[in-house]
Formats: sequence, structure tokens, C-alpha cells
Amino acid sequence: MDIEVRRIAASRIGERDLSPQSFGTVFCDHMLVAECQYSEWTDARIEPYGPLSLPPSISGLQYGISVFEGHKAFRTVSGEVVLFRPHENWERLRRSCRRLVLPEVPEDIYLEGLKELIRTDRDWVPGPGEGALYIRPCVFATDAALRVGPSSACRFVIFTCAVGQYYPAPLRLLVTTDHVRAFPGGTGNVKPAGNYAPALLAEAQARHRGFSGVLWLDGRERRFVEEAGVMNVFFVIDSTVVTPGLSDTILPGITRDSVITLLEMMGIPVEERPVSIDEIAAAHATGRLRECFGTGTAATISHVVEIGYQGKTLRLPPVADREIAPAVLTRMTALRAGREPDHLGWLIPV
Ligand SMILES: *Cc1c(COP(=O)(O)O)cnc(C)c1O
Repeated sequence: MDIEVRRIAASRIGERDLSPQSFGTVFCDHMLVAECQYSEWTDARIEPYGPLSLPPSISGLQYGISVFEGHKAFRTVSGEVVLFRPHENWERLRRSCRRLVLPEVPEDIYLEGLKELIRTDRDWVPGPGEGALYIRPCVFATDAALRVGPSSACRFVIFTCAVGQYYPAPLRLLVTTDHVRAFPGGTGNVKPAGNYAPALLAEAQARHRGFSGVLWLDGRERRFVEEAGVMNVFFVIDSTVVTPGLSDTILPGITRDSVITLLEMMGIPVEERPVSIDEIAAAHATGRLRECFGTGTAATISHVVEIGYQGKTLRLPPVADREIAPAVLTRMTALRAGREPDHLGWLIPV
């Protein structure tokens, strides 16, 4: 596959800003763009990051026929730039495309195109301990007729931004029983753009009540914990790690999978199984709920310090007293910085 590279006239790297308040606002010099018409992918190219010119009638906008991914590249202590498990993101994007009847992005366009894009903007990649390059691939339908139906045309775009080391404020989550994020047979296990807007009202209501986000329960019984905002969720009860098992209502996070793998390598037992909110409340009442944390690409691990449920607030032990989540975060950070041997083959050089 040939990727034409059209370089920006003058780099904007002087605008790079790793401060938390600028997270996701300044994009790197270049983007990868490819098009698909009737199952044929053409025109893969790298060009200066900038606006796309598209008709307002496209079904990506009108009907939300749009899916995305999120992952990161890191600079190791030896100065090399590596992608973290990018095949997993490509596979998940294909599953998202299939679920929305969008054409699937071929492996060479995604992975070779991404490597070429990162090589083009490699100076933007922050150093170890400084941050990472956040990668946002997306696919959306560009059929311009108002008929709703499977897409015959789409656009694939990857753009990136440099992000600082991100230590999010500990989360205070409100259990909601009024809204659900996902339901059986729906799209909760893939990443369509349409999963996110419907969650905003519950998030806004949680904030209004003094919480920082939502702890989602299952749609059928409103009893089993599913996710923490847009992160997978883990609990430590006594010294066992418990996380909801994957289903069609839970997003199979690559951070989730990596955390489970590292915990098992560290000899810490992990149970993937249904976790009811009553089990969590009972474990809290008997002092056995040691930790709760969310996992996702943006922050890797976010500690949860409070859970609001049925008018009460369950207060968890202070973050400084926790052992398991900080240990796995340290391990993950060392691995991605190349300070530990990558026995698992998770780091792919660009
Ligand atoms: C993307 C996402 C996650 C985290 O996935 P990672 O691959 O770990 O970044 C978790 N939950 C939801 C709902 C998501 O959209």
C-alpha cells in the first residue's frame, strides 16, 4: 500500500501543551485519511491536520453512523516510539464497523498508516514521565442521500494529540437506576459515537448532586455494576480483585485486559463475574471493600473514593492506603516506558 505524505509547510509543534487543562485541544501537524466506496479503499494519505469538507447530509452526521477508537503511543527511555497493543484497537474498530454495517478498515491502512503518521509527527511524542501521544481513529459514513441504510461510502481518519501525564482527581460516583448506558442486544460492547451522547444527562445529574460521574448498572435488573462512566470498573474485596465479566453490555477495554493480565502475573487473584451493587454495599458495610478503580486509555487507572447509592455515600479507604491499583499502575507505566522487558509483546515500534 502506498501512502502519499503531504507535509505541513511549517510545524505547529511550538503550540504543544501538556498541561491538564489543554487535554485534547491541540492536535499534531498531520492526519491520516482514507476513503471507501463500495468496499474499495482508496486514497490513503497523510496530510496537514485540518477541517474536512463534507456535505451536511452525510449519514455519519444525520444517523450517527460513526465509530471510533482511542489508544496511545509512548516514548521509551531509549528514545524509541512505540504503540501499545495497536492490533487490539484495530480489531475492536473492525467489530464496531461490523456492528454498524460500515466497511471494515484493512489492517495495512490502519497499522501501517498509523505508524507512518506517527513517524511523520514523532517530534510531538512526549518523553517517558512526561506524557504520551493520544491517538483518535474514527470511521464515519459519507453517503450523502437521506435514505437510512447500510453505508456504501465512508471516511477513515486518524488524528493525534500530545497529552501530559494525567493524574485525575479521585472519582466520586453516583449509582444511577434512572438511566442505562447499554442494554442486551445493543451496542455497549463496541465504540459507536452514539453510545456517548445518551449518557450525558445522567452524568450531568450526578454532577448536579455533587458527584463526579456515574456508576452504571445493568439495564435489565438495575442490580449489577457494569462500568464507571466511560471506564471499566474494578473492586478490591479483601485481597481479591473483582470486575464484571465481559458481556454485550460491557466495553472490552484494552486497559481492562492489560490490568487483569498484569495482576495475574503479580500473583493477585482476579475474578471476572457478575458484581451486584448490593454485594459492594455489603462489602463496604463490613469493611472488606478496600479499593475501587476505573480503567481506560486516557488515565489508565482512576481511583474511586466515594459511591453514592440509595441516598447514602459509601466512603472508601484513602488512596494513600491502597496497594493493588497503585502497584499495577507502576507496573504498567514501567512497561510502557521500556523500563521493564516487554515479555508480552505489547509494545510495537513505529
Ligand atoms: C473506550 C472505553 C473504555 C476503555 O477502553 P480502553 O481500551 O481501555 O481505552 C471503557 N468503557 C467504555 C464505555 C469505553 O468507551
